[in-house]
Amino acid sequence: MSEVKESIAWDCGTCGTTYLDKKLAVACCVCRICKEEVPKPQYGSPLTVHNKCQSEEWYQREKDTLAKAELIENYGGFVYYGDRYFPDMESLEEHLYDNTYGETEEESRKNWPTRVHTCIEQPFPKINVEYLYERIEEELNWEDSDYDFDKCDVLEKAVEEFNEANKGMVSYYVDIKHAVEVEPFNPEEV
Ligand SMILES: [Zn+2]
Ligand SMILES: [Zn+2]
Repeated sequence: MSEVKESIAWDCGTCGTTYLDKKLAVACCVCRICKEEVPKPQYGSPLTVHNKCQSEEWYQREKDTLAKAELIENYGGFVYYGDRYFPDMESLEEHLYDNTYGETEEESRKNWPTRVHTCIEQPFPKINVEYLYERIEEELNWEDSDYDFDKCDVLEKAVEEFNEANKGMVSYYVDIKHAVEVEPFNPEEV
């Protein structure tokens, strides 16, 4: 039988999680950004960051990427701001009108972003019939066989129709390299 030894463990003073390495216990329940203590979680694993610190970091990161982004003119597509996507500038502006603090419109608009990120369209991933055939051949171990499938024309026509019918199903993701300007406040328009 091998020899056994007693070892010391360390408990986090906040959540009580036990660590063998004292450094880990000291770092537990400490915000990775402000280095202050984070509260004990209601359930689940210990927290590593304050919500407030996290959102400030996101906000700052967005500000930094916006400052560096190249401006696009005459852009009409999706835009991204504050962790949300908007189908166009009009809907972003509506959101800003409703959600930015200010006694008057002019006051509120001072708190609007001056630029926001544009988005990249992720096109509909069309079904590729050749790929389907290859997959079937792989599953059947038909290497370099001369077998042919039946009703290929039916499948191909259906796939073509399916791809065509769903081509509008696209998604968008933020393009951190590009941005559009949010129009500045113009009192004459009010
Ligand atoms: Zn802890
Ligand atoms: Zn913090």
